Amino acid sequence: MNRKPIFAANWKMNKGPSETEDFARALLPHVQHQTFPCDLVIAPPFVSLAKASELFGNVTAVALAAQNCSEYDSGAYTGEVSAVMLKEFYVHYVILGHSERRSIYGETDDVINAKMLKAREFKLKPIFCIGETLAEREGGQLEEVLRRQVTKGLAGFTEKDLQETVIAYEPVWAIGTGVTASAEQAQEAHAFVRSLVAEAFGGEPAAKIRIQYGGSVKPANAAELMACPDIDGALIGGAALEASSFLQIIENGT
Ligand code: PEP
Repeated sequence: MNRKPIFAANWKMNKGPSETEDFARALLPHVQHQTFPCDLVIAPPFVSLAKASELFGNVTAVALAAQNCSEYDSGAYTGEVSAVMLKEFYVHYVILGHSERRSIYGETDDVINAKMLKAREFKLKPIFCIGETLAEREGGQLEEVLRRQVTKGLAGFTEKDLQETVIAYEPVWAIGTGVTASAEQAQEAHAFVRSLVAEAFGGEPAAKIRIQYGGSVKPANAAELMACPDIDGALIGGAALEASSFLQIIENGT
C-alpha cells in the first residue's frame, strides 16, 4: 500500500505571532511553489493561528493544525476553543489525545473520543495520539494500552472519518526526552496499531491509514525510522522549532 507520509511540527506552547513570522520567513522559500512527496503540517499555539493562516494560507504544500479543540460547540467553557472557531482559520488538522493533554490535563479516553467526534463533525482531520508510558511498557502492558486507546478513541467513527484521520504513535517515554524508540520497537508498535484498526474497520482502511511516529525524532534518526514499512511520517516537537531542522527531517525521512 502506497501511503503518502505526513510530517507535522507540534510547536506546543512555543512561538507567539512574531516568532511564527520568523519561522515562516525561514521556511517559505523552501516550500512556496514546491511539491513534496509528503504532507507538511504545522501546529502553532491558538494565538498564532491567525498569523500562520495569513502566512501559509496560500502555500499549497503546508497545512495547519490546532493543538487541541473542545468537545463542546460553545458556551461557558473558559479557556477553551471550539472546532467551529478553528474553521475560521486555515486549519485542516487538529492534534488530539497528545500525552501532555492526557497526563497534565487529565484528558481521558472518553474526553478524547468526544473531541475526535466533534472534530469530525466540523470536518477537521484528527492527528490522534496514542502511546504507552515506560512503566506500562516495562510492565508488559503495551498492547493492552494501545488497544484501549485505539478502541475508545475511535469509537463511533465511520470508515469515512477514519480516512480523514492520522494516528500518531508516540511512546510517552520518548517524547521530549531525547530517547527515541528503536526502529524495531517503533515498527512493532505501528504494525500492532494497524492490526487493531483492521480488527475494528477491516483490512483496507487499516492498510490506508497513516500512522506517524513521534518521540524525539530528529534529522539523525529520521531516515531509519521512516524506512520502517508501517511508519508513515512523524509528529515532531523540539526538532521542528527550527525551520532548517524540520526541513532536514523531511529530507532525510522521504
Ligand atoms: C511531540 O510533542 O509530540 C513530540 C514527539 O515531541 P518531541 O519530538 O520533542 O519528542
